[in-house]
Amino acid sequence: MESAEELVKIDFAHRLSLGLKRLGTAMLDLAYPPVCLACAAPVAVADTLCSACFVQLRPITAPLCPILGLPFAVSMGPDAISAEAMAEPPPFGRARAAVVYGEVPRKIVSKLKYGDRPELARFCAQLMAGAGHALWRDAPVLVPVPLHRARLRERRYNQSAELARALGRLTGLPVATNLVTRSRRTRQQVGLSGTGRARNVAGAFAVDPEAALRLRGRRVVLVDDVYTTGATVKAVSQALRRAKIDNIDVVTFARVVVGDDAPIYETQSFSEHSSDG
Ligand SMILES: [Zn+2]
Repeated sequence: MESAEELVKIDFAHRLSLGLKRLGTAMLDLAYPPVCLACAAPVAVADTLCSACFVQLRPITAPLCPILGLPFAVSMGPDAISAEAMAEPPPFGRARAAVVYGEVPRKIVSKLKYGDRPELARFCAQLMAGAGHALWRDAPVLVPVPLHRARLRERRYNQSAELARALGRLTGLPVATNLVTRSRRTRQQVGLSGTGRARNVAGAFAVDPEAALRLRGRRVVLVDDVYTTGATVKAVSQALRRAKIDNIDVVTFARVVVGDDAPIYETQSFSEHSSDG
Protein backbone atom coordinates (compact mmCIF):
# COMPACT_ATOMS: atom_id res chain seq x y z
CA MET A 1 0.00 0.00 0.00
CA GLU A 2 1.47 3.33 -1.06
CA SER A 3 1.60 6.28 1.33
CA ALA A 4 -0.43 9.39 0.51
CA GLU A 5 2.73 11.11 -0.66
CA GLU A 6 3.62 8.22 -2.96
CA LEU A 7 0.09 8.19 -4.34
CA VAL A 8 0.37 11.88 -5.19
CA LYS A 9 3.69 11.17 -6.88
CA ILE A 10 2.20 8.28 -8.84
CA ASP A 11 -0.78 10.40 -9.82
CA PHE A 12 1.50 13.22 -10.94
CA ALA A 13 3.66 10.86 -12.96
CA HIS A 14 0.56 9.33 -14.51
CA ARG A 15 -0.84 12.73 -15.47
CA LEU A 16 2.51 13.84 -16.79
CA SER A 17 2.75 10.76 -18.99
CA LEU A 18 -0.83 11.31 -20.23
CA GLY A 19 -0.02 14.92 -21.02
CA LEU A 20 3.14 13.93 -22.86
CA LYS A 21 1.23 11.30 -24.78
CA ARG A 22 -1.35 13.89 -25.85
CA LEU A 23 1.37 16.32 -26.78
CA GLY A 24 3.04 13.53 -28.75
CA THR A 25 -0.18 12.84 -30.68
CA ALA A 26 -0.61 16.54 -31.45
CA MET A 27 3.00 16.78 -32.64
CA LEU A 28 2.57 13.65 -34.77
CA ASP A 29 -0.55 15.16 -36.34
CA LEU A 30 1.50 18.20 -37.28
CA ALA A 31 4.35 16.12 -38.67
CA TYR A 32 2.12 13.50 -40.33
CA PRO A 33 -1.31 14.91 -41.12
CA PRO A 34 -3.95 12.14 -41.19
CA VAL A 35 -4.42 10.42 -44.55
CA CYS A 36 -7.00 8.04 -46.05
CA LEU A 37 -6.29 4.40 -45.10
CA ALA A 38 -6.74 3.27 -48.71
CA CYS A 39 -5.45 6.02 -51.02
CA ALA A 40 -3.41 8.31 -48.73
CA ALA A 41 -5.39 11.45 -49.65
CA PRO A 42 -5.45 13.94 -46.76
CA VAL A 43 -8.42 13.55 -44.40
CA ALA A 44 -9.66 15.57 -41.44
CA VAL A 45 -9.78 12.68 -38.96
CA ALA A 46 -7.16 9.94 -38.60
CA ASP A 47 -7.81 6.21 -39.18
CA THR A 48 -10.58 6.50 -41.70
CA LEU A 49 -11.21 6.70 -45.44
CA CYS A 50 -11.55 9.77 -47.63
CA SER A 51 -15.07 10.33 -48.93
CA ALA A 52 -14.14 9.16 -52.46
CA CYS A 53 -12.94 5.79 -51.11
CA PHE A 54 -15.73 5.55 -48.56
CA VAL A 55 -18.49 5.71 -51.18
CA GLN A 56 -16.80 2.84 -53.04
CA LEU A 57 -17.10 0.54 -50.02
CA ARG A 58 -20.08 -1.73 -50.42
CA PRO A 59 -21.25 -2.99 -47.04
CA ILE A 60 -22.93 -6.40 -47.09
CA THR A 61 -26.31 -6.04 -45.43
CA ALA A 62 -29.60 -7.96 -45.27
CA PRO A 63 -31.19 -9.55 -47.16
CA LEU A 64 -28.49 -12.21 -47.28
CA CYS A 65 -28.03 -15.98 -47.28
CA PRO A 66 -28.19 -16.99 -43.59
CA ILE A 67 -25.45 -19.57 -44.18
CA LEU A 68 -22.92 -18.05 -46.58
CA GLY A 69 -23.78 -14.40 -45.92
CA LEU A 70 -24.08 -13.71 -49.65
CA PRO A 71 -26.17 -10.64 -50.34
CA PHE A 72 -29.50 -11.25 -52.07
CA ALA A 73 -30.75 -8.68 -54.58
CA VAL A 74 -34.25 -9.03 -53.14
CA SER A 75 -35.57 -10.58 -49.94
CA MET A 76 -36.66 -14.16 -50.50
CA GLY A 77 -38.04 -14.79 -47.03
CA PRO A 78 -36.30 -15.64 -43.77
CA ASP A 79 -35.59 -19.28 -44.64
CA ALA A 80 -34.24 -18.75 -48.16
CA ILE A 81 -30.65 -19.92 -48.57
CA SER A 82 -28.35 -19.30 -51.54
CA ALA A 83 -27.97 -21.83 -54.36
CA GLU A 84 -24.28 -22.12 -53.40
CA ALA A 85 -25.09 -23.09 -49.81
CA MET A 86 -27.66 -25.59 -51.02
CA ALA A 87 -25.35 -27.16 -53.62
CA GLU A 88 -22.41 -27.46 -51.26
CA PRO A 89 -23.25 -27.11 -47.55
CA PRO A 90 -20.11 -25.68 -45.86
CA PRO A 91 -18.45 -27.32 -42.81
CA PHE A 92 -19.16 -24.14 -40.81
CA GLY A 93 -22.46 -22.70 -39.64
CA ARG A 94 -22.52 -19.11 -40.83
CA ALA A 95 -20.13 -16.80 -42.67
CA ARG A 96 -20.41 -13.02 -42.50
CA ALA A 97 -18.33 -10.32 -44.17
CA ALA A 98 -18.31 -6.56 -43.79
CA VAL A 99 -17.87 -5.47 -47.40
CA VAL A 100 -17.91 -6.76 -50.97
CA TYR A 101 -14.34 -7.36 -52.18
CA GLY A 102 -13.33 -4.65 -54.64
CA GLU A 103 -10.64 -2.06 -55.31
CA VAL A 104 -10.77 -0.20 -51.98
CA PRO A 105 -10.90 -3.33 -49.76
CA ARG A 106 -8.07 -4.77 -51.87
CA LYS A 107 -5.88 -1.77 -51.07
CA ILE A 108 -6.77 -1.88 -47.39
CA VAL A 109 -6.07 -5.62 -47.12
CA SER A 110 -2.75 -5.40 -48.92
CA LYS A 111 -1.61 -2.60 -46.60
CA LEU A 112 -2.89 -4.56 -43.61
CA LYS A 113 -0.92 -7.57 -44.73
CA TYR A 114 2.46 -5.98 -45.28
CA GLY A 115 2.65 -2.99 -43.06
CA ASP A 116 2.80 -2.71 -39.34
CA ARG A 117 -0.36 -0.65 -39.31
CA PRO A 118 -2.62 -1.49 -36.36
CA GLU A 119 -5.01 1.34 -37.24
CA LEU A 120 -5.98 -0.63 -40.37
CA ALA A 121 -6.94 -3.67 -38.30
CA ARG A 122 -8.98 -1.41 -36.03
CA PHE A 123 -10.80 0.12 -38.98
CA CYS A 124 -11.61 -3.29 -40.52
CA ALA A 125 -12.62 -4.73 -37.14
CA GLN A 126 -15.12 -1.93 -36.58
CA LEU A 127 -16.95 -2.88 -39.78
CA MET A 128 -16.60 -6.60 -39.00
CA ALA A 129 -18.05 -6.12 -35.51
CA GLY A 130 -21.23 -4.74 -37.09
CA ALA A 131 -21.44 -7.27 -39.92
CA GLY A 132 -20.92 -10.20 -37.54
CA HIS A 133 -23.24 -8.98 -34.78
CA ALA A 134 -25.35 -12.16 -34.99
CA LEU A 135 -22.24 -14.24 -34.24
CA TRP A 136 -21.21 -12.62 -30.95
CA ARG A 137 -23.96 -14.12 -28.79
CA ASP A 138 -23.05 -16.74 -26.14
CA ALA A 139 -19.41 -15.67 -25.90
CA PRO A 140 -17.71 -17.54 -28.75
CA VAL A 141 -13.92 -17.66 -29.06
CA LEU A 142 -12.29 -15.73 -31.93
CA VAL A 143 -9.78 -17.86 -33.85
CA PRO A 144 -7.59 -16.26 -36.54
CA VAL A 145 -6.68 -18.26 -39.64
CA PRO A 146 -2.99 -18.98 -39.01
CA LEU A 147 -0.01 -18.41 -41.27
CA HIS A 148 2.66 -21.07 -41.57
CA ARG A 149 5.53 -20.41 -39.14
CA ALA A 150 8.00 -19.85 -41.98
CA ARG A 151 5.74 -17.30 -43.60
CA LEU A 152 5.09 -15.60 -40.29
CA ARG A 153 8.85 -15.25 -39.87
CA GLU A 154 9.14 -13.67 -43.32
CA ARG A 155 6.26 -11.30 -42.77
CA ARG A 156 6.48 -10.91 -38.99
CA TYR A 157 2.77 -10.28 -39.14
CA ASN A 158 -0.41 -12.36 -39.38
CA GLN A 159 -3.10 -9.98 -40.56
CA SER A 160 -5.87 -12.39 -39.47
CA ALA A 161 -4.48 -12.43 -35.93
CA GLU A 162 -4.37 -8.61 -35.95
CA LEU A 163 -8.00 -8.53 -37.09
CA ALA A 164 -9.00 -11.06 -34.42
CA ARG A 165 -7.26 -9.08 -31.68
CA ALA A 166 -8.85 -5.81 -32.79
CA LEU A 167 -12.23 -7.53 -32.97
CA GLY A 168 -11.66 -9.04 -29.53
CA ARG A 169 -11.04 -5.59 -28.08
CA LEU A 170 -14.24 -4.24 -29.66
CA THR A 171 -16.52 -7.16 -28.76
CA GLY A 172 -14.90 -8.22 -25.48
CA LEU A 173 -14.54 -11.77 -26.84
CA PRO A 174 -11.48 -13.92 -26.13
CA VAL A 175 -8.99 -14.64 -28.91
CA ALA A 176 -7.31 -18.05 -29.24
CA THR A 177 -4.23 -17.68 -31.42
CA ASN A 178 -2.72 -21.09 -30.61
CA LEU A 179 -5.69 -23.36 -31.26
CA VAL A 180 -5.03 -23.84 -34.98
CA THR A 181 -1.68 -23.95 -36.74
CA ARG A 182 -0.76 -24.25 -40.40
CA SER A 183 1.17 -27.49 -40.36
CA ARG A 184 1.97 -27.62 -44.04
CA ARG A 185 3.31 -24.72 -46.03
CA THR A 186 0.85 -24.13 -48.87
CA ARG A 187 1.48 -22.29 -52.10
CA GLN A 188 -0.29 -18.97 -52.55
CA GLN A 189 -3.87 -19.32 -53.67
CA VAL A 190 -3.13 -16.93 -56.54
CA GLY A 191 -4.57 -17.95 -59.87
CA LEU A 192 -5.84 -21.30 -58.56
CA SER A 193 -9.32 -22.45 -59.50
CA GLY A 194 -11.91 -23.27 -56.84
CA THR A 195 -10.93 -26.96 -56.71
CA GLY A 196 -7.24 -26.06 -56.93
CA ARG A 197 -7.63 -23.80 -53.91
CA ALA A 198 -9.42 -26.52 -51.97
CA ARG A 199 -6.74 -29.09 -52.82
CA ASN A 200 -3.98 -26.63 -51.93
CA VAL A 201 -5.18 -26.13 -48.35
CA ALA A 202 -6.73 -29.57 -47.66
CA GLY A 203 -5.10 -31.06 -44.56
CA ALA A 204 -2.85 -28.00 -44.15
CA PHE A 205 -4.16 -27.16 -40.68
CA ALA A 206 -3.64 -28.82 -37.32
CA VAL A 207 -5.54 -28.26 -34.09
CA ASP A 208 -3.83 -28.31 -30.70
CA PRO A 209 -5.56 -31.21 -28.88
CA GLU A 210 -5.27 -29.70 -25.39
CA ALA A 211 -6.61 -26.32 -26.48
CA ALA A 212 -9.41 -28.11 -28.31
CA LEU A 213 -10.28 -30.05 -25.19
CA ARG A 214 -10.53 -26.85 -23.17
CA LEU A 215 -12.79 -25.31 -25.83
CA ARG A 216 -15.06 -28.32 -26.27
CA GLY A 217 -18.67 -27.18 -26.38
CA ARG A 218 -17.64 -23.58 -27.06
CA ARG A 219 -18.49 -21.95 -30.34
CA VAL A 220 -15.61 -20.71 -32.44
CA VAL A 221 -15.63 -17.78 -34.88
CA LEU A 222 -12.86 -18.00 -37.49
CA VAL A 223 -11.41 -14.64 -38.46
CA ASP A 224 -9.80 -13.94 -41.85
CA ASP A 225 -9.27 -10.94 -44.12
CA VAL A 226 -10.91 -12.06 -47.36
CA TYR A 227 -13.36 -14.85 -48.20
CA THR A 228 -12.74 -15.81 -51.80
CA THR A 229 -13.97 -19.35 -52.47
CA GLY A 230 -14.00 -20.25 -48.78
CA ALA A 231 -11.38 -22.98 -49.33
CA THR A 232 -9.19 -21.83 -46.44
CA VAL A 233 -11.90 -21.42 -43.79
CA LYS A 234 -13.46 -24.69 -44.92
CA ALA A 235 -10.13 -26.49 -44.45
CA VAL A 236 -9.72 -24.94 -40.97
CA SER A 237 -13.32 -25.88 -40.11
CA GLN A 238 -12.67 -29.49 -41.13
CA ALA A 239 -9.59 -29.61 -38.89
CA LEU A 240 -11.63 -28.19 -35.98
CA ARG A 241 -14.41 -30.70 -36.53
CA ARG A 242 -11.92 -33.56 -36.44
CA ALA A 243 -10.91 -32.18 -33.02
CA LYS A 244 -14.60 -32.30 -31.95
CA ILE A 245 -15.16 -28.57 -32.20
CA ASP A 246 -18.14 -28.43 -34.50
CA ASN A 247 -19.88 -25.19 -33.72
CA ILE A 248 -18.02 -22.89 -36.11
CA ASP A 249 -18.83 -19.54 -37.71
CA VAL A 250 -16.70 -17.32 -39.93
CA VAL A 251 -16.20 -13.57 -40.14
CA THR A 252 -14.08 -11.77 -42.73
CA PHE A 253 -13.48 -8.14 -43.63
CA ALA A 254 -14.27 -8.61 -47.33
CA ARG A 255 -15.94 -11.25 -49.44
CA VAL A 256 -15.80 -11.94 -53.14
CA VAL A 257 -19.31 -11.90 -54.54
CA VAL A 258 -19.52 -13.86 -57.78
CA GLY A 259 -21.35 -12.02 -60.53
CA ASP A 260 -20.21 -8.79 -58.97
CA ASP A 261 -18.00 -6.29 -60.83
CA ALA A 262 -15.01 -7.34 -58.75
CA PRO A 263 -12.92 -9.89 -60.67
CA ILE A 264 -12.27 -13.10 -58.76
CA TYR A 265 -9.05 -14.37 -60.20
CA GLU A 266 -7.39 -11.19 -61.26
CA THR A 267 -3.79 -12.29 -60.87
CA GLN A 268 -2.18 -8.97 -60.00
CA SER A 269 -4.49 -8.06 -57.18
CA PHE A 270 -4.70 -11.58 -55.87
CA SER A 271 -0.98 -12.06 -55.83
CA GLU A 272 -1.16 -9.98 -52.69
CA HIS A 273 -3.19 -12.64 -50.95
CA SER A 274 -2.00 -15.80 -49.45
CA SER A 275 -4.34 -16.84 -46.71
CA ASP A 276 -7.53 -16.09 -48.59
CA GLY A 277 -9.47 -19.04 -49.77
ZN1 LIG B 1 -9.11 7.50 -50.15
